[in-house]
Amino acid sequence: MKIYDLIIIGAGPAGMSAAIYAKRAMLEVLVLEKEAMSGGQIVQTYEVDNYPGLPKMNGMDLGDQFFNHASDLGAEVKTGEVLEIKHDQPVKEIVLKDGEVLKTKTVMLATGATHRKLGVPGEEELIGLGVSYCATCDGAFFRNKTVAVVGGGDVALEDALFLSRMCEKVYLIHRRDEFRGAKILQDQVAKNDKIQVIWNTVVTKIDGNERVESISIKDVHNDVDKSLDVDGLFIAVGTAPQSTLLKDELKMDERGYIVAGEDGVTNIPGIFVGGDQRTKNLRQVVTAAADGANCVVSVENYLQKLELPDN
Ligand code: NAP
Repeated sequence: MKIYDLIIIGAGPAGMSAAIYAKRAMLEVLVLEKEAMSGGQIVQTYEVDNYPGLPKMNGMDLGDQFFNHASDLGAEVKTGEVLEIKHDQPVKEIVLKDGEVLKTKTVMLATGATHRKLGVPGEEELIGLGVSYCATCDGAFFRNKTVAVVGGGDVALEDALFLSRMCEKVYLIHRRDEFRGAKILQDQVAKNDKIQVIWNTVVTKIDGNERVESISIKDVHNDVDKSLDVDGLFIAVGTAPQSTLLKDELKMDERGYIVAGEDGVTNIPGIFVGGDQRTKNLRQVVTAAADGANCVVSVENYLQKLELPDN
């Protein structure tokens, strides 16, 4: 059975960047991705405007470019969901959901992060019926309608701006009186007539029978409750690390991010981590891509010292 030098789990910017660096280092590398489409979170991003050299890039196109670059260099990419990683031997085994077992000397975890839920009544019941976590995927269903976005980070600001292109009105509800998203986005939001920012306010309930009809909101300073008629609610309250692989063995922080420095070295020999799943200050496409490069250098160092049994 083939033994890979490196199997990368996740085909977002961190994983594809690692695949590019691994091929250029002449490593036998395989990228595993559970979704049919690679790219990670960026495929849900309308526009990425801070990746150097590629201004105003559509997220899906950027994901495609990463994929094509790695493929052109000969990186193997396979669709498959990983169930288990067995790492008690120098050659590790990756067990896929369909029962297939793959062998590799090192593993890079690059499964990224996914959206967090708000956790209010009505949210679960109305997902897909007006509650959405992806403006670029679902925005078109709300043409000429009134929607609300909740959150104050880059994603919430980007979502509000994107939705303002098609919706009649966009409420942007934030629990504080200051956004944490990029200043350039804050500026664009402030200048956009269709966006009304509602500060110091939380969503407490989502109401509607067969579809979202209104939301209950509360001013956090005076506890005054209000109802706001909306056709849709876009929830953009941050991300949580994706994947529970090796969760009992990997060192993680209190939020579930895998503890590793820039070199991607985890507490398990031969298991590396990069991208949004790693403990870090700044989760961006550019930092994910940097993680991919750094992980491959760590993999090469590890492989140089790896002693395999003779058979
Ligand atoms: P984020 O930066 O963590 O922001 C989450 C926002 O949701 C914060 O404003 C937070 O409020 C708010 N929030 C959290 N829990 C809440 C709750 N229960 N109720 C109400 N509001 C709540 O997350 P993000 O915007 O999803 O971005 C995730 C990461 O991706 C960030 O690191 C971001 O910079 C990055 N990103 C990068 C790009 C790019 O490179 N172009 C694009 C998009 C995102 P507080 O501010 O009060 O904490």
